[in-house]
Amino acid sequence: MRNIGIDVDSLTLLDQIVRKLSDGFAGLPVVDDGQGDLETMRPVLEEVASRLTDNYPYFHPLYAGQMLKPPHPIARLAYMLSLYINPNNHALDGGRASSAMEKEAVAEIAAMFGWDQYLGHLAGGGTMANLEALWVAGRSHPDRMVLASTQAHYTHERLSQVLHLPFRKVPVDRFGRMDLDGLQRILDEEQVGTVVATIGTTATGAVDPLPRLLKLRDRYHFRIHADSAYGGYFRLVDSLPSATREAFDLLGEVDSIVVDPHKHGLQPYGCGCILFKDPSVGGFYKHDSPYTYFSSDELHLGEISLECSRPGAAAVALWATQKLLPLERKGTFASHLAAGRNAAIELYHLIAADSRFLTAFPPELDIVIWLPKAASASKASNLSRQLFEQAAKHHLHLALAEIPEHFFDLEKAGMDRDRTTLTCLRSVLMKPEHDSWVGQIWTIVCQCLNELD
Ligand SMILES: *Cc1c(COP(=O)(O)O)cnc(C)c1O
Repeated sequence: MRNIGIDVDSLTLLDQIVRKLSDGFAGLPVVDDGQGDLETMRPVLEEVASRLTDNYPYFHPLYAGQMLKPPHPIARLAYMLSLYINPNNHALDGGRASSAMEKEAVAEIAAMFGWDQYLGHLAGGGTMANLEALWVAGRSHPDRMVLASTQAHYTHERLSQVLHLPFRKVPVDRFGRMDLDGLQRILDEEQVGTVVATIGTTATGAVDPLPRLLKLRDRYHFRIHADSAYGGYFRLVDSLPSATREAFDLLGEVDSIVVDPHKHGLQPYGCGCILFKDPSVGGFYKHDSPYTYFSSDELHLGEISLECSRPGAAAVALWATQKLLPLERKGTFASHLAAGRNAAIELYHLIAADSRFLTAFPPELDIVIWLPKAASASKASNLSRQLFEQAAKHHLHLALAEIPEHFFDLEKAGMDRDRTTLTCLRSVLMKPEHDSWVGQIWTIVCQCLNELD
């Protein structure tokens, strides 16, 4: 098979490992499996395979658009393997091994942030993990306001509505980071319970200025929740700009952290993680449901989680991935993150050096926003959309994003400011392979722009 990035070889390994799993239960009496004939499933699966080609090729380096990163083969294999058991990490009765593996894997993530005392677990994703963070924030600071920047993920405003917590947005500076003078004005006016610091915004990868935010906390006594759903793993990367690095170095000082293993942690979807610095927040979760069984003196994961049934498979996949690729500062996993970031910096320089294009600021993490220049913001926005479509015809898949115009120097570019946002191209260079493909990506971009002229 031509290697276009879909791995088939690892299935032989799965075949052998499933047999090992089956051997582990060899003492059981034989049952007639009654699972049906493979040949009746074949046409259905063939149809599935054909329908699934209606997707962008997320696994390929020429997919350089949204935040989509293929799971590591070991995550895929461990996930599939555990589906033969299908454990539920709600309660130990539903998944003893996978619950233990969840605790071990989460301990490794907590250690990445320098925490050995904490409360934490996996969740369905960043949204559920942030819901839990804001729920605890609301329980510990009832009726007080939640603040997040205009570039924070929109989920914080919506989750605050769900939790009936007052919410307000804080402006950002021209680098997409929370403007702390703007924050301080709000702190002087309102009863603020929690400030959400975004450590890697979804649009541009901007990191809020945590060092100064921590100083403001000393004065105004709010909680800090770090939403590092996207950026959290960059804590392991040395080669960050110094202000960004300082924020990551202080991440352990916040009250709660969200990180998404299904974003940068090589996991299939359905894997977020929430960590609280103070384990006593576990008291907020107390319930007296008769439906949860107590077969162990240990704390059930279901007792410290808002979600009840959760896939044990997600924990098994994460555990296996971290076993193969430990969360170490100089390790292979970290070097892969750094490779994506190198690719983003290289792309940024190619764009910045080309007078036909405009870009905002150098990437703090691995996201580049850029667009072709034109006489006005609206004309450039149209051109972005055309370039996006033209590139797709050449198998180069970019993404579009609406970005505030003040992130760009329109005056210097000689462009009319006839719109408050620019429709930009957004390239999230999450795959280490991007590092060796940037040249090719740029060649296609330039060719496409010529074709549009
Ligand atoms: C992706 C993301 C979220 C939402 O997480 P999901 O896993 O998509 O539910 C929240 N915050 C930030 C900063 C994100 O990048």
